[in-house]
Amino acid sequence: GMAMEGVIGCGSIVLLYSAVTWLIEALARIAEIVTDLRNNNEHLLRYFQYMDLPQSTLNGREEEKQPREDGKEKPWDGQREHGINACLRMEDVSFRYPESDDFALKNVTLNINAGEKIAIVGENGSGKTTLIKLLCRLYEPQAGRILLEGRDIRSCPYEEYIEHISTVFQDFSLFAFSIAENVAGTQDYDEQKVWAALEKAGMKERVERYKRGIRQPLFHDFDSEGTNLSGGEGQKLAIARAAYKDAEIMILDEPTAALDPYAEYEIYENFGKLAEGRTVLFVSHRLSSCRMCDRIVVLDRGEVVQCGTYEELMAEESGKYRELWDAQAQYYV
Ligand code: ADP
Repeated sequence: GMAMEGVIGCGSIVLLYSAVTWLIEALARIAEIVTDLRNNNEHLLRYFQYMDLPQSTLNGREEEKQPREDGKEKPWDGQREHGINACLRMEDVSFRYPESDDFALKNVTLNINAGEKIAIVGENGSGKTTLIKLLCRLYEPQAGRILLEGRDIRSCPYEEYIEHISTVFQDFSLFAFSIAENVAGTQDYDEQKVWAALEKAGMKERVERYKRGIRQPLFHDFDSEGTNLSGGEGQKLAIARAAYKDAEIMILDEPTAALDPYAEYEIYENFGKLAEGRTVLFVSHRLSSCRMCDRIVVLDRGEVVQCGTYEELMAEESGKYRELWDAQAQYYV
């Protein structure tokens, strides 16, 4: 009406109209955000509750675990120095997954001497990964126990225990940071150690070819000069990451299964350097790569059926290792 009478101009009307529309839109948006916040709170709460779970509750066991009192066992004293070879012992270990009827591991007894390189082989489903999971304390065995340097690993706080172990799995992740940060896993790193780790993983020469060396960023997310790595190169970085961590036990769970034979060969070329001064457990799908290990453990349906050097196992004509070997040889003639 006022516009009609010429009290306010057309421009003001348009301005006013759009301001009101904006205001309404903004209010609706605020209401939306508030609802989102409330909804997400529910999820966040669950996330925080999950993160707050004590470690052993994850395994369905009570929090505190005391070593068995058989008189002989030393308590965990946390005094061990890093970088020193460690011996591992599995005593009559049996394990069944919570939702499963069959035992994935049955009465496994295994002595791994300090500094020894052990290969673990067996058909799919024979229990190799389960054994590794128990050593990493992702699960606890229902029977038997695992000892590190003569101490029940359950008596060691989880965070402290896991410091003694470095692992390389097939499903590693790399991040859009520099190579050095990917190797060290932190923003602060020791340059010399990063190079040493890259060398052990057979990745040093490749990285030297980058203008920015270990500062070369990965991927293009944050940096247009970022680089993409091949599967083999990525796996080598994952190995370098494990090498960077000064853990006395190194576990490699089929780290090269996804690689072509040449990339695999390159990685194993450096196995000696990588494994030096460490106790190594190496789950392998390719039997020929077990030769570089001191001893081979053969699993079959959750049980250790053979254990010995490559020569010893090959000499057992009717043994499981020969059976696996012959089966695999067909593919590699
Ligand atoms: P491998 O690594 O030698 O292929 P696994 O350790 O993965 O063997 O499996 C051993 C046995 O445990 C198999 O029978 C497998 O089906 C079973 N298994 C593995 N993971 C689980 C799981 N999360 N839940 C139930 N059973 C499982």
